[in-house]
Amino acid sequence: MLKGNVAVVTGGSRGIGRAIALRLAKEGADVAVLYAGNEAAAAETVAEIEALGQRAKAYRCDVADYDGTKQTVEEILSDFGAVDILVNNAGITKDGLILQLDEAKFSAVLDTNLKGAFYMIKHLYAPMMRRRKGRIINISSVVGLTGNAGQANYASAKAGLIGLTKSVAKELAGRNITCNAVAPGFIATDMTDAMPEKAKQAVLSSIPMKRTGLPEDIAAAVAFLAGEDAGYITGTVLKVDGGLCM
Ligand code: NDP
Repeated sequence: MLKGNVAVVTGGSRGIGRAIALRLAKEGADVAVLYAGNEAAAAETVAEIEALGQRAKAYRCDVADYDGTKQTVEEILSDFGAVDILVNNAGITKDGLILQLDEAKFSAVLDTNLKGAFYMIKHLYAPMMRRRKGRIINISSVVGLTGNAGQANYASAKAGLIGLTKSVAKELAGRNITCNAVAPGFIATDMTDAMPEKAKQAVLSSIPMKRTGLPEDIAAAVAFLAGEDAGYITGTVLKVDGGLCM
């Protein structure tokens, strides 16, 4: 149970992030929901958390903006008093083979998916260290382990998140703060819905469990890593992919 804990979930307005925010709330956590621009979706997540009897607040915050994330973390600390759990989930794709992958597309994905996580960790590092308590969970991807044609930017960011996870885990282990990554496979959200039908069928046919993952499958893994039972687990990458990557 996560009663009395405060969680921050970036990209909590939709998809996997929303499922994580709701699952942590079901376990008893209060939740700060960060989103990029979809105010209605963020408000819906907040309403659902409140209906579960937990406190929640939405913050419009582009995780790729250093000053913006700093200010948002200050607001969250002032609103909730402390942060126990940080879930770096916000992410985007801008796919293309290297020939079409210009510098702007490469940088945008690195800025949001990798630097965004670093910014959030940086701003919460000292507050968590002082309390000698914290759980940091970064949402990577199996693509960060395998690479993927047409996703050099995304795979680089997701692989980078694994290096970030292990470095933070080593830096903060002595302070009772764990840092782990979850690597989802193919999960049904707006992100994967945007893929061409042929590509979707190709991935689906290569999943040993023969089904698409659900956001709730990822949320369950995050809840485990955030909970008391995972107190001795740090620096790990937990694949949740129906066997896609082994
Ligand atoms: P969605 O596209 O469904 O949702 C993305 C979420 O991230 C939204 O809440 C969006 O906010 C938020 N977001 C996007 N950019 C920013 C930003 N710059 N600052 C703050 N928030 C931002 O994605 P998924 O739920 O599918 O993916 C969530 C995470 O899981 C991502 O990191 C993704 O890479 C990873 N993942 C997903 C897989 C999948 O199959 N779906 C597989 C492997 C990993 P808003 O609503 O305001 O736009």
